[in-house]
Amino acid sequence: MSRLFHLLAVTFLALTSFAAHAEYIPRAERVADGVYAIVGPLGQRSADNDGLNANFGFVVTPSGVILIDSGASRIGAQKLEQAIRAVTAKPVRWVVNTGGQDHRWLGNDYFAGRGAETIALARTAATQAQQAAQQMAGLERFLGERLQGTQPRPATRTLAGDEATLELGGETLTLRYTDAHFPGDAMVHLPRRGIVFTGDLVYVDRMLGVMPLSSVQRGLTAFRAMAALKPARVVPGHGRVCDLAKAQQDTGDYYEFLANTVGASAKDLQPMDEVLKRHTDLPAFRHLENYDALHRANMNRAFTEFESQ
Ligand SMILES: [Zn+2]
Repeated sequence: MSRLFHLLAVTFLALTSFAAHAEYIPRAERVADGVYAIVGPLGQRSADNDGLNANFGFVVTPSGVILIDSGASRIGAQKLEQAIRAVTAKPVRWVVNTGGQDHRWLGNDYFAGRGAETIALARTAATQAQQAAQQMAGLERFLGERLQGTQPRPATRTLAGDEATLELGGETLTLRYTDAHFPGDAMVHLPRRGIVFTGDLVYVDRMLGVMPLSSVQRGLTAFRAMAALKPARVVPGHGRVCDLAKAQQDTGDYYEFLANTVGASAKDLQPMDEVLKRHTDLPAFRHLENYDALHRANMNRAFTEFESQ
């Protein structure tokens, strides 16, 4: 009896300490042969998730691994590398960044130190350089001492043009700008696989955030361009791997709403307060995580963007 009690007590302690320190360990999830996604938690950056509150991906080729986005810190990058190690012993040859937001690129320095080349479109790398100091200061607040050792290193191989095609080990990938969430954001398309890694263009399961540097108009244009690729699988910037219909529902339709309803009302010179109030409760989107925190601010930014045109 006392043994059973002891066992229960130990189990209880283990469970509660797990809840208190739910350290996030990234795991690779197969999307297709040799193509993997790492789906991070939906919430805010924290010491427990090491700023890996976003999605990452990698492609295993005979010549080595192509990693898509490198995490928000040195420790986060090491964790991504461990997730890759669970699948292949091949080295990370390339790190391709889809964006200039912290969790897209602050692990570059770690992978560069391990021999990888860091690659991005030119404006993506420019945003990284511009935002580095501010992002490090912001992360310090969330990650504390776990940010130690992180060195901002914008992608060093920068690609000119609005679109670039790369090839490694027989795998073709195309990078093209989306410019939605951050200026210079991009998506990665694997044309022969029908897979797109959208970066912060697509959010599913949680509401997308329109930030001061975001553009609703460019988001809508980019979403339509992504949909025109007719991908079979979509690895969003945040949320679970999905099909195009789900991406349309959680992101595409919301961009349509922000542009065609909120934006149109702004161009009509309707009072902002009334417009925001009218659309506070949107049944199509209120199931999305962070709806209460973001929806009103998103409408506000959309309104301001269209009003000034
Ligand atoms: Zn993000």
